[in-house]
Amino acid sequence: MRIFTATLSTETNTFSAIPTGWSCFEEAGIERGRTGVTRNGTGGLMHLWGQMAEADGHSVFHSVAANAPPAGRTVRAVYEALRDEIVADAAAEGPFDVALLFLHGAMVADGYDDCEGDLLQRLRAVLGPDTIIGVELDLHCHLTAAMLENANAIITFKEYPHIDAGKRGRELFRLCVDAAAGQTRPVMGLFDCKMVNMYPTTTAPMAAFVAEMQDQEGRDGVLSLSLSHGFPWGDTADSGARMLAVVDGDQARAAEMARRFGERFWALRHAVTEPGLTIDEALDAALAAPPGLAVIADKADNTGGGAPGDSTFVLKRVVERGLTGVGIAPMWDPVAVRFCHDAGPGARLALRIGGKAGPESGDPVDLTVTVRALSDELVQWGLGSPSVLGRAAWVEADGVHVILVERRIQAFSPELFTKMGLSLEALRIAVVKSTAHFRAGFAPVASLIVTTVGPGTLLEDYGAIAYERRPGDYWPRVEDPFAGA
Ligand SMILES: [Zn+2]
Repeated sequence: MRIFTATLSTETNTFSAIPTGWSCFEEAGIERGRTGVTRNGTGGLMHLWGQMAEADGHSVFHSVAANAPPAGRTVRAVYEALRDEIVADAAAEGPFDVALLFLHGAMVADGYDDCEGDLLQRLRAVLGPDTIIGVELDLHCHLTAAMLENANAIITFKEYPHIDAGKRGRELFRLCVDAAAGQTRPVMGLFDCKMVNMYPTTTAPMAAFVAEMQDQEGRDGVLSLSLSHGFPWGDTADSGARMLAVVDGDQARAAEMARRFGERFWALRHAVTEPGLTIDEALDAALAAPPGLAVIADKADNTGGGAPGDSTFVLKRVVERGLTGVGIAPMWDPVAVRFCHDAGPGARLALRIGGKAGPESGDPVDLTVTVRALSDELVQWGLGSPSVLGRAAWVEADGVHVILVERRIQAFSPELFTKMGLSLEALRIAVVKSTAHFRAGFAPVASLIVTTVGPGTLLEDYGAIAYERRPGDYWPRVEDPFAGA
């Protein structure tokens, strides 16, 4: 068989002021298959598919792999150029039996609310009706009719934190190769759960729901089940949770399976969502925690959801309350990083920290700091690959430690502190900018984990998000969006 692969991935927070342009994709690394895709780089899944194909004696053509950190709408010309390169590759190098794509599923560009649907439609046009098109998506995606019409099989991550990209990638490869060999005929059914929220799968009800989906797979003709959680801060007509079933041959059964699991998820809505704390409540809880390191997740400023990563609301309260033994990471502030690197290790200087990207970042905090350590490239390990934060500086002001970084990346690992030379034993409280992905790295070293809802960019009042395109018929904006349906 001949197999085509490509990656185009960014999560768009349509409320973010940060434009997603070429520099954002270049920072994360654009790879081109002709020159090789790397195991831990943007083309990681393509690398995996290439290895699986080779092991089975198939030939592979790797097209582009492009990824940008979550931020605002992608600049139109940038999206169109990357899309057109992938489509042109498929046209020039075809025919293909299988096309495997890793897309985010919540990418919005100027003029395109559904980038993935647009790309898939154009790929289908050049690949023809017989190529099996398989797509892996982040579960924070907006599943649309255009995606379903133009793909044969879609699989989303099941886990949040996203620890299962590789597992889902292997499943997609097998599913699509089987279909191309004529052993199965995948058809898809979708159910709109009409819910907008976030659902970490580390809590018991969600973990059980993931297990239920996996139990059903491989039985009764079900090839795959995916719950797309939706991405609350992406304003499109299709935003919200949707249940997807991929079934062998039977369209009615696919629709029924999607409905059955979707209704089951709807019934769990109160159990799978947990309220967060105000900043002061979170600090109080951390101070009252058992001995060891208390971790506070500042989810409103999670760059992984498109927030800037430079908000100062927690830092300001820590300073105002005179708390010590507090570490905050990562704080995105390339200007402050530059000042610290110029001043040098050990320097004492008046530093204006954070609060630069917009009103949701709060006001900058002015502190007289000591530059405790510098790094030319701070790297943390997260979700199975290294994540590079660029140049970094550890500054301290009266027992308050801030790790300043050049690149907008969320917290994955305590390496943010330890690699800068700041021992976790020196900290009572670690404040990390992340919603859920930090848990894999921080849970083993934390005596307590709490989350604060901000203020910040990613506000948690899901019923009050100022949507213009997403209709208002969703929970929790209305108690029962199915009433009268
Ligand atoms: Zn995600």
